[in-house]
Amino acid sequence: MMVPFFNPQPMHDSIGSDLDNAWFATKKAGSFILGDKVAAFEQAFAAYCGASHCLGVANGLDAITLILRGLDLRADDEVIVPANTFIATWLAVTAAGARPVPVDCEDATGNISALAVEAAVTSRTKAVIAVHLYGCPADMDGLLDVSRRHGLFLVEDAAQAHGAFYQGRRIGSFGVASAFSFYPTKNLGALGDGGAVVSDDEKLIARIRLLRNYGSSTKYHHELAGVNSRLDELQAAFLLAKLPHLDAWNEERRAIVNIYDQAVDRCPGLRRVSVNNSSRPVWHLYTVRTRQRDLLARELTARGVSTMVHYPVPPHLQPAFNSLGYSRGGFPVAEEISVETLSLPIWPGMNDTEIKHVAESLVSAGQYL
Ligand SMILES: *Cc1c(COP(=O)(O)O)cnc(C)c1O
Repeated sequence: MMVPFFNPQPMHDSIGSDLDNAWFATKKAGSFILGDKVAAFEQAFAAYCGASHCLGVANGLDAITLILRGLDLRADDEVIVPANTFIATWLAVTAAGARPVPVDCEDATGNISALAVEAAVTSRTKAVIAVHLYGCPADMDGLLDVSRRHGLFLVEDAAQAHGAFYQGRRIGSFGVASAFSFYPTKNLGALGDGGAVVSDDEKLIARIRLLRNYGSSTKYHHELAGVNSRLDELQAAFLLAKLPHLDAWNEERRAIVNIYDQAVDRCPGLRRVSVNNSSRPVWHLYTVRTRQRDLLARELTARGVSTMVHYPVPPHLQPAFNSLGYSRGGFPVAEEISVETLSLPIWPGMNDTEIKHVAESLVSAGQYL
């Protein structure tokens, strides 16, 4: 039996006619950029997140970049970022012209702590980006507190956390603004690239609305040196068809995680991620940790189970960030996670046979660790 790492087909089959209609309706309407569908999706997604505004943009990286540009950062401004994240979190900071200042993550959760952030604050720090890695909310109470005390903007990279809760409130409404990605594998995925900025801050939203569209509100009149970063009308139509199912799809992910957790707990050589008590994760990724990660991956592959590593090289050790001058040993927990972590297959609509096969393969492969 072969289990892929991710398979969107069951999700798309279950709403097949809605997706087809989204395409037919968009084709018929003949408006493809910033039309009714984008506006309708922005309203629906803001309401879903419990925020007052949403702006559709081209992708998740642009969503973070545009938030930082909207906050008007300067060249020597510092933005605190997790050492343990997808590189987009850092690239957004450099794209906005500021300097990423990494902090190491907590060993148990993989997310950053308020304590680590506090230790990295300098007179140049302007913002903190919290990433809800794997779909597990970071400690927002602590991060909001440290941000308030130092007058920093708290930005959420929620690209893995659509629909997650922290203390009964949706992720996306805690910091000054939140960035989402609709990359096809994300919990809410488009059929192509897409992203969104969600915020309650009217001024910031007004600025990003200009920035995403050539810095222009009236055609051919440009107030800011903006970019072209818009959510396509067609992708917005697909996302509108998918959004009503997101909570049920996240619930399916949670049910799979319950089964995987039991399998992991039978393997003394395996660790799983700890979840903040007051949060309700949405499990974009299900990861385990072991010193013998590569052996586990080989054993699972031999049983037909596909795996991936998120992420094999932390941003501070990527050639792209050589100029920042970090080296091995700089952020030991993030580095250890990059060596130990392995992601297992998970998607809504995964069938019982597939789930059972992954769990059983994990238990049998786990005996070699
Ligand atoms: C996917 C992802 C992004 C970037 O989203 P794109 O739409 O691929 O640009 C940013 N941050 C995190 C944590 C992500 O997982």
